[in-house]
Amino acid sequence: MKWYTEEWSKECKFSIAYDEHLHSEKSDFQQIDFYKGEEFGTFFTLDGLMMVNEKDEFIYHDMIVHPAMATNPAIKNVLIIGGGDGGTAREVLRYGHVENVVMAEIDERVFRLSQEYLPITALGVEEDPRMTLHFEDGLAYVKNAPDHSFDLILVDSTDPISVGEGLFTTAFYQECFRVLNDKGILINQHESPYFAEYAENMKKAHQKIKDIFPITHVYQYHMPTYPSGHWLFGFASKSLDPLQDADLAQWERYGLKTKYYNVDLHKGSFALSSYVKEQLTHE
Ligand code: SAM
Repeated sequence: MKWYTEEWSKECKFSIAYDEHLHSEKSDFQQIDFYKGEEFGTFFTLDGLMMVNEKDEFIYHDMIVHPAMATNPAIKNVLIIGGGDGGTAREVLRYGHVENVVMAEIDERVFRLSQEYLPITALGVEEDPRMTLHFEDGLAYVKNAPDHSFDLILVDSTDPISVGEGLFTTAFYQECFRVLNDKGILINQHESPYFAEYAENMKKAHQKIKDIFPITHVYQYHMPTYPSGHWLFGFASKSLDPLQDADLAQWERYGLKTKYYNVDLHKGSFALSSYVKEQLTHE
């Protein structure tokens, strides 16, 4: 049996058995590997860290998209930063009232290889007439975007190392604030509260966003293949609160079938464990 292994902390490793190493290449930006195994199906890693697999991708992609879509049923223009596997775009495109989806992904190879090996996330995304793909740095894309041009920005990025670093900076969050309209929402990767290195990243990202946006929340989900399995997204908005303003009855009327997200979980996911609350209030 062959094993893919990554380090979750200096003294904790996570391994998945695989049958085939489908592809390996060093792109202009990062090391990309696709594997196929029994338990998690096809999965890919960037610079030796798990990104997406067939078994639990629904959790991540439900939770990055649906809480914001339920909070503002009028969302029409969506910007995805990163998201090269296509799963976030796939979920956004399920809403018939969404008119434009722009994806600014730095590495075209992630998208092309996902089209080849991970149709579960990438199939049909490029062909949707509402979709525009830009293969460029997300920070550069937002810097050049007009004021008030998006209702929602979803930051589906790697960790704050290497090419992903710029997406965790104050400069990036300020640009996001500027390009969002008055009801704009920003959802971003908030890492994990459990292992120290990830918790530090989470606290820093949250503090920077809190300094810019008037409404900020953190919500959680269970992601079996990310370090510790306990992962967070940040919710920030210029004027909408995900608990007070969400139109959950409207969301149910869409009739979308989701395997993880539902309206009870919408409320529940914002209820944080005490140790996480403490980390967020003592930054
Ligand atoms: N769900 C995953 C996770 O949380 O680990 C991340 C998914 S992966 C598709 C993240 C994507 O962000 C990668 O395809 C990577 O190329 C892209 N990315 C990293 N830095 C970026 C940047 N500065 N601008 C745009 N895309 C970036």
